[in-house]
Amino acid sequence: MDINGRAIAQVIRTTLETEIEKNKYTPTLAFFLMEDHAPSRVYVGMKQRACQEVGITSIKEELPVSITEKGLLEKIDNANKDPVIDAIIVQMPLPDHIDSNKIICAIDPIKDVDGFHPLNIGKMMIGDKNALLPCTPHGICKMLEIENISTTGKNVVILGRSLIVGRPLANLLSQKGKDATVTLLHSRSQNLKSHLLNADIVISAIGIPHFVKEDMVKQGAVIIDVGMNHLEGKLVGDVDYTKVKKIASKITPVPGGVGPMTIAMLLQNTLQCHIQRLKSNLSL
Ligand code: NAP
Repeated sequence: MDINGRAIAQVIRTTLETEIEKNKYTPTLAFFLMEDHAPSRVYVGMKQRACQEVGITSIKEELPVSITEKGLLEKIDNANKDPVIDAIIVQMPLPDHIDSNKIICAIDPIKDVDGFHPLNIGKMMIGDKNALLPCTPHGICKMLEIENISTTGKNVVILGRSLIVGRPLANLLSQKGKDATVTLLHSRSQNLKSHLLNADIVISAIGIPHFVKEDMVKQGAVIIDVGMNHLEGKLVGDVDYTKVKKIASKITPVPGGVGPMTIAMLLQNTLQCHIQRLKSNLSL
C-alpha cells in the first residue's frame, strides 16, 4: 500500500495556512542561490510557490558565481540583522571557493530554517522541543507518526549517512519516544543485504536509482524512499518500487512520497522561526 505523502503534506499545509491567516502572522523566508545552478532555481521555485500558497512571503537573491566567501557572509549578516526576515536558506551546492560549513555557521540559529546550524543540531540531539529540525528527517518522522507506523523496538535500517538526511534521522529515531533500534549503512558497510533483510522499516537516502531490490527486504517491511534520481527522463527513487511494493506493507512512491513532506516541514519551520522571533522580541 502506498503512503500518500502528497495528501499528508496537503493537510499540514492547509493547517499552516489557517494558522497564519487566523493569527495575522507575517512570516518571511529569504533564499540565496547561485545564479548558474539550474537545479537550485527549480528547487527554490518549488519552495517559493509552496510559501505563497500558505501565506509566507519569500525573497530570493540570485548570486553570481564570482561572489566571494566574504561577500556571501556579508549578505547573510545583513539578512540576520534584517527585522523583516524570519528565516534564511542558502541553497546548496555552493562553488568550490566557498566553504559551505562556514556559511551554515554564519546563519543566525534562530533563522536557520533548514536546521543545519551546529546549535540546532545540538538541540535536536538533546531532544529540545524548540529545535529547528532538518526538514527531510522531520518530514519522515511526521509521516510515520500520521500513518500510525510505530518505531518502538523496531529495527530501522537507514541507507545513507548524509548530514541532511541519514545522520539526523538516525538520531531522531533512536531518541526516547521514537525508541527504534537504528542501523545506519553507508558505502563502506559490509553485508548490506543481511542488514536490510532484518529491517522492519527501511529508509533509503543514497541517490542510486532502483538500488533496493525485492530480494533485499523482508515481507511486510515499511519502505521509505528518500531518493530523487533521474532515470531515462523520469524521476525515480532508490527503491525498485514496482517490485518492492509487492512485498512491502507500506511504501512511499517517488514522486509523491517524502518530497512533499520535506516542503511541508520547511513551511512549518518558517512559521516556527517567525513565532520564536515574535516571542523573543516580546521578551526584550
Ligand atoms: P549524499 O550526501 O549524496 O550521500 C549519499 C549517502 O549514500 C552517503 O552516505 C553514501 O555513503 C551512501 N551511499 C552511496 N552509495 C552507497 C552504496 N552503494 N551503498 C550504501 N550506501 C551508499 O545524499 P543525500 O544528499 O542525503 O541524498 C540522497 C538522495 O536523497 C538523493 O537522491 C537526493 O536527491 C535525495 N533527497 C531527497 C530529499 C527529499 O526531500 N525527497 C531530500 C534530500 C535528499 P558514504 O558516506 O560512505 O559516501
